[in-house]
Amino acid sequence: MDYSILNDIIKSSKNILIISHVNPDGDTLGSMCGLYSAILDNFKKKCDILAVSKIPSVYEFIPYVNNIKSLEEIDKSREYDLVINVDVAAIDRICDAKILFEKAKKTINIDHHKTNNGYADFNFINPEASSTGEVLCDCFEKMGWKINLDTANCLYTAILTDTGSFRFDNTKPQTFEKASKLVEIGVKPADIYKRVYESDSKTLVMFQAHCISKAKFLCDDKIAYTVVYRKDMEKFSANDECMEGLTEKLRAIVTTRVAFVAKEMKSGGTKISMRSKFADVAEICEVFGGGGHKFASGCTIKAPVEEAVKKLLDEIEKREI
Ligand code: 5GP
Ligand code: MN
Repeated sequence: MDYSILNDIIKSSKNILIISHVNPDGDTLGSMCGLYSAILDNFKKKCDILAVSKIPSVYEFIPYVNNIKSLEEIDKSREYDLVINVDVAAIDRICDAKILFEKAKKTINIDHHKTNNGYADFNFINPEASSTGEVLCDCFEKMGWKINLDTANCLYTAILTDTGSFRFDNTKPQTFEKASKLVEIGVKPADIYKRVYESDSKTLVMFQAHCISKAKFLCDDKIAYTVVYRKDMEKFSANDECMEGLTEKLRAIVTTRVAFVAKEMKSGGTKISMRSKFADVAEICEVFGGGGHKFASGCTIKAPVEEAVKKLLDEIEKREI
């Protein structure tokens, strides 16, 4: 990939907007703030950074997270010189910010999802990379940009969260090499670990215990799933943040091959979060207009939960899992 174009475009653009995906995770937020920090450090230029939905409180420690704007705080009629999407697998993942993307003079798409179809003017997609944070480490290195401690903390958080603490299949030698460089810059792995993984609320733990107790098991326990109803979320005062890591807990059962969580949405549809040990679940989610990675993907099915679960199970059962 020719990163010199990326350098030239960023250098020549006066006003830049960086956008993260809906229901932001550590990778999209760490990547967005890391890119913001790097542009500030290398070009003394401030970008606008945008999250189209609520930022989970667990990520409040990420440098520059307080600079993130919501859609309401951004002038939607504005024509940016450059809009950069980070970790955004498909254009509909930026929701109503699509208008800003379409109006921009130039657009860039930096990502690692294999389902990303290269919807921008310039696309930097590396499906071999563990995370968008890792793609950015590569970009910065190849462009010869400085990486200060703030940038390093952002990128480390992105890599750490998308590799599930360097445990998932996407963890490659290059992942450790990049993480190692960030640690050399001054990142403290134990500090970030505590911030990300030892900061669960009591509500999250109790709510997840409830969801797990309601789990259903099919095909000799190869399929594990649970349905999350709005009434249960209300009963526990649980928000979307309380779902974090729930699907992984069902996959962690030794017999599980495919796990999913089906969440009843306000709109009447069903949000699916899927994980697997062997099968390509991105393929299954793509059937419903979603996508993601081989072992971790998601989609929204336009049907009430019971019907959505049936549709999804039909798709799973068509395949070798
Ligand atoms: P999660 O289950 O944690 O919400 O998402 C797992 C993975 O699937 C993430 O990498 C995310 O980007 C992707 N993903 C989740 N929902 C969707 C969706 O509706 N569309 C697409 N294209 N990807 C999704
Ligand atoms: Mn990612």
